[in-house]
Amino acid sequence: MTPFEKFVGVCKRIEGISGSLEITSIVAQFFREVDDAELGIATYFIMGKVFPVWAELELGIGPNLLYSAISKTSSLPVRRVEELVKETGDVGYAAEKAIASGKSHLNFFSAEELSIRDVYARFEKIARLTGKGSQDAKIKNLQYLFSAAKPEETVYIARLAVEEMRIGVGEGIVRDAIADAFNVPSDLVERGYMLTNDFGIVASTAKKDGTPGLEKLGTVLGRPLKMMLAQVAEGIGEAIEEMGTVAVEWKFDGARVQIHRDGDHIIIYSRRLESVTPSLPDIVRSIKSNVKANAIILDGEVVALGKDKRPMAFQEILRRFRRKYDVSATALEIPLYLNLFDILYLDGKSLIDMPLAERRKLLEEVCDSGIVAKQTVTGEAGVVEAIYKDALAAGHEGVMLKNPVSLYMPGKRGKNWLKLKPIMETLDLVVIGGEWGEGRRANLIGSYLLACRDPDSEKLLTIGRVATGITDEQLGELTGLFGELIISESGIHVDFEPKVVFEVAFEEIQKSPNYDSGYALRFPRLVNVRSDKSVEDADSIEKVEQLYIRQKGKENFKPE
Ligand code: AMP
Repeated sequence: MTPFEKFVGVCKRIEGISGSLEITSIVAQFFREVDDAELGIATYFIMGKVFPVWAELELGIGPNLLYSAISKTSSLPVRRVEELVKETGDVGYAAEKAIASGKSHLNFFSAEELSIRDVYARFEKIARLTGKGSQDAKIKNLQYLFSAAKPEETVYIARLAVEEMRIGVGEGIVRDAIADAFNVPSDLVERGYMLTNDFGIVASTAKKDGTPGLEKLGTVLGRPLKMMLAQVAEGIGEAIEEMGTVAVEWKFDGARVQIHRDGDHIIIYSRRLESVTPSLPDIVRSIKSNVKANAIILDGEVVALGKDKRPMAFQEILRRFRRKYDVSATALEIPLYLNLFDILYLDGKSLIDMPLAERRKLLEEVCDSGIVAKQTVTGEAGVVEAIYKDALAAGHEGVMLKNPVSLYMPGKRGKNWLKLKPIMETLDLVVIGGEWGEGRRANLIGSYLLACRDPDSEKLLTIGRVATGITDEQLGELTGLFGELIISESGIHVDFEPKVVFEVAFEEIQKSPNYDSGYALRFPRLVNVRSDKSVEDADSIEKVEQLYIRQKGKENFKPE
């Protein structure tokens, strides 16, 4: 067994340095030295996690519960603990200070050392406590840990309790540290992680069986794989040219699910690979009655359809995913339908290294057609276009164009899956500056600086530049228009009086430190000069935030 103190020493060393190479080599050394049975736990702990993401276990320790446990251990009032958290800016240091100051009059547990396994076992016990009285029992167990710990150890126990390690070790460092510790290629470690979502398994395999062991790692029933993702398609023609023939499916407006069935045991994972099974009994039933195989992993999208058979708002699906009580009433109100589009495992065999066309055959063999997404393989742009139009007319997002010979690449956003959808939104933004072009466009203003309104401060906040979607002819007109609005010039930069509103389309909103608004637009394109709109009619920062949250919610929502 490895003393927990050793882990604490590693964290403290890492806290004092910033270079990721140095951090990686410290973590690698730690992985080399830690006891075999604790290597898996060490990979979670070092990232501030207690369990792997896929595990159905959750600690359920919020700040209040933690403060109560610190207060009970130290005999300080909770209020004082909260003050210490504010003063130190960290639950770990607050716990250390509180407990060190209060411990003198505590009757200590034996001086026996805590091991990494002891700490894990206690957290596991905490995670398994549910129902009435569980809060108190969680507090008691935390108290036990704090009392048994040395002062320095309390820092990291408190941080683990709320799963915030704050030492800057993320997936990249752990991946490289495993590669370094056991002398295996980092891309094989990465592949193993994409397949198992568990650095614990990857590290133990690397240590025990080295490169050949990692090569043999495959899909495991009951362990979610990272999901394959899609890139934006440049166009139908380009996709057909690249792939020859394309497998076309509707891009459903719903939420991604990965379903694992082992006999009667079914687990449904969300896009974040967290289990949402208890909220989706209807999907569980549907799998039981519509899937012939007993050991299977399926990939697909669930959609909520209204009475008119059109997809409901994404928020409604979220309500279903988050629901823990009265599930069946909500299921009636928001009925979900399955659209399976892939199969990753069947009867003991991983299928991810099989071409899509062959996987598709198996999918159709074992699943009732009612729960399988329709797919058309074609090399004709007209056929794709017709399917695209149908999908939009039915209220879905567009189409997916998949390469029929491609393998399933867990966690990859590659060019074998392309998404084709209309640009989702436009924003009306105020043009506050620009830049003179170069070469042929030297006497034209070629790029325009955009801003949204902040109704509170009445300021205009920059959010990006648009230079696409403007014809040469339009550039001439715009240069004329803005020529009269120039306030100042420096080099190629010009500032305009804020008078003109552009309607701008974009692919996505991203967080960005480069603009005052804190956001930036991905692939912005001028749609219209909104001469019918004044600056006061332009969109506000709130609208930008709403769109961002909606889009992010969809990408990466977290079921509670
Ligand atoms: P995006 O979230 O825009 O990157 O698009 C990828 C997402 O589209 C996937 O994660 C799925 O949730 C969703 N999707 C809908 N229909 C399909 C489909 N037929 N094939 C793959 N993904 C789909």
